[in-house]
Amino acid sequence: MKASDGTTLPCHWYENPDTPGELFLVPCCEARVQDPDTDCTCELPIDELARLRREIAEVRRQLTDTTRQLHDLSAAVSVSPDALNIYARADSYRAARKGITG
Ligand SMILES: [Zn+2]
Repeated sequence: MKASDGTTLPCHWYENPDTPGELFLVPCCEARVQDPDTDCTCELPIDELARLRREIAEVRRQLTDTTRQLHDLSAAVSVSPDALNIYARADSYRAARKGITG
């Protein structure tokens, strides 16, 4: 469906071909559910893509930070006189989390 300015609206009415007259609003936004004649407030695919890319970049940044923290912790533990016991304890925690016993 096209808006008056020629842009494609993500939210449009779809008529069920098996049940003439039965309409569905696809993908559907609350604004148009409340008032079918109002402007669509659905996120445009190009905006969704940009938002998802920002979210992926943020998750990658968090993963990098967490990985660096883990490497720092591992380096600190590795020089400890009790390092082998600490690693064994960490392995047992990991096994318990996976439901592995023994
Ligand atoms: Zn909409």
